[in-house]
Amino acid sequence: MGTRGKEIVGVEVGKLLTMLNKAYADEWLAYYQYWVGAKVAVGRMRGIVAGELEEHAQEELKHAGMLTERIITLGGTPLLGPNEILKESNCGYDAPVDPKTKKLLEQNIKGEQCAITTYAKILDFVKDKDPITHQLILEIMAEEVEHEEDLESLLEDMNTGVN
Ligand code: FE
Ligand code: FE
Ligand code: MG
Repeated sequence: MGTRGKEIVGVEVGKLLTMLNKAYADEWLAYYQYWVGAKVAVGRMRGIVAGELEEHAQEELKHAGMLTERIITLGGTPLLGPNEILKESNCGYDAPVDPKTKKLLEQNIKGEQCAITTYAKILDFVKDKDPITHQLILEIMAEEVEHEEDLESLLEDMNTGVN
């Protein structure tokens, strides 16, 4: 990163990089959990649920891309392999071993809630100290909030028998 670009980052960069890499790990696992969940889904409202999961998968992958760019700009290296990704993740991986749509929704809602908590902590860490990262995380977090809402609405429809 450029000299002045670095100077305006008022937090300990190593600590920020660790946080960003952990969020990056979460995004890859969320991506895969959604992607494979969409493939194996069975049961009520399958078409609608699978469509939503697929859409979210693509957005998680996009988040991973946004985080990598910031990590590299700050002079860091994104996690380079699946073992590290599993190890460093905050939110972990919930395999869709029970592929019923209701169960998939519940698992992914849990994942989104963990993501929202993680991003809230990063926002708090960089607040007033690194406006570029702040802006980036806000953008990602807004989509996680939307994801949670989408999945909770689907689960509610399912539980009230709308579909
Ligand atoms: Fe995400
Ligand atoms: Fe999400
Ligand atoms: Mg959605």
